[in-house]
Amino acid sequence: MEKTPFYEQVRDRLIRYAKVDTQSARVSSTVPTTMKQFDLAYLLLDELRAMGASDVWLDEEKCVLYAALPSTLPVGQGRAFGLVTHMDTAPDASGAGCRPWVLEGYDGGDILLNEEKGIVMSPREFPNLLHYLNEDLVLTDGTTLLGGDDKAAIAAVMTMAEHLIRHPELQHGPIALAFTPDEEVGGLARDLDLERFGAKVAYTLDGDYLGYYEDETFNASHATAVFRGRSVHTGTAKGILVNAADMAAEFASLLPPMEKPQFTEGREGFFHLSSIKAGVEQAQVDLIIRDHDAEVFARREQLIRDLAAQLQAKYGPERVELAITPTYRNMKEVVDQYPFLIENLKQAITLAGLTPRSVAFRGGTDGSALSHRGLPCPNLSAGYENAHGRFEYVPIRSMEKNVEILLHLVRLFGEMEA
Ligand SMILES: [Zn+2]
Repeated sequence: MEKTPFYEQVRDRLIRYAKVDTQSARVSSTVPTTMKQFDLAYLLLDELRAMGASDVWLDEEKCVLYAALPSTLPVGQGRAFGLVTHMDTAPDASGAGCRPWVLEGYDGGDILLNEEKGIVMSPREFPNLLHYLNEDLVLTDGTTLLGGDDKAAIAAVMTMAEHLIRHPELQHGPIALAFTPDEEVGGLARDLDLERFGAKVAYTLDGDYLGYYEDETFNASHATAVFRGRSVHTGTAKGILVNAADMAAEFASLLPPMEKPQFTEGREGFFHLSSIKAGVEQAQVDLIIRDHDAEVFARREQLIRDLAAQLQAKYGPERVELAITPTYRNMKEVVDQYPFLIENLKQAITLAGLTPRSVAFRGGTDGSALSHRGLPCPNLSAGYENAHGRFEYVPIRSMEKNVEILLHLVRLFGEMEA
């Protein structure tokens, strides 16, 4: 496979970043959720300074790293845009002691990740491998994740930035960069200071499948129903005992049986019962609600309120308490107001020789939250595979392609009015 001038840069960068353990934590009392995310932030800070990026600044309280590539075009020309990537890796698999290595020219067979432990990755289990015949893959030793999610994206963005700085003849408009913590644990880029970031539109780079983009995510909320019972001796309980566990089970049984993640796909929404903790005195049911369509989503939330009301009517209003908390909203209603965001992205993907593809994402991204905070922010795939696990890998060509896509994007934004 022919290599681009970016080959070594993206390869070496991914390997360098992957060796820094930046695993975030679901339960934490600190910001960011783990302090080791600063290790990568400082490394990137040094690299950005060394390459000559502008306004390089690390928020040492929140662990958000900022940098800028100021416009090299005449005033009035070139529209500003930003790129947002995340520094943390998923809590689902360890990121400590990651030992990335490169397999050159994948032949379609089994890959021995770890001789000592006998860990093999086979295309029988991971047929996606067969998309990358003859390509060079960055792999793990089978004991940690790779963290290509999202460090493959960071490698592409950093390589693009250095390329633009080294080649002043490639004129461009203002480009804002941000590197954020805690994406994997629902951070939603909460601490990204939009004023400091500067650009009014942006893209996240995250996700598998090279050439994919997302402009549509779920609407999401979390519901907690608490049930209060009255415990007495079961021998003399008739007419007196109220069982909170029974109420919780009844509530769960009233949920539409087929509208669950295990029975839905595509643009079908769902209710997902994530936990029931139940005793006689008190019980708690937690569930998440998801739907792409805002109206259907509102009806789903209303159904949960109606079910709670139904049990209140049956057992007494004091026995059932419901709270619904919004998590994030579908970015589409915001992104659709800026059609050039997706037009430019599709064009850039096409110019890089790929077919742009999109699916309604069955989840949320930092961009879902950012879009509703006023920074419209669709997502471009980072090109990693098998994320969040020990069999994660990144085809080097996917990162090279993403650098190409980004450079086309830079040019397209440069051709727009400021
Ligand atoms: Zn990610």
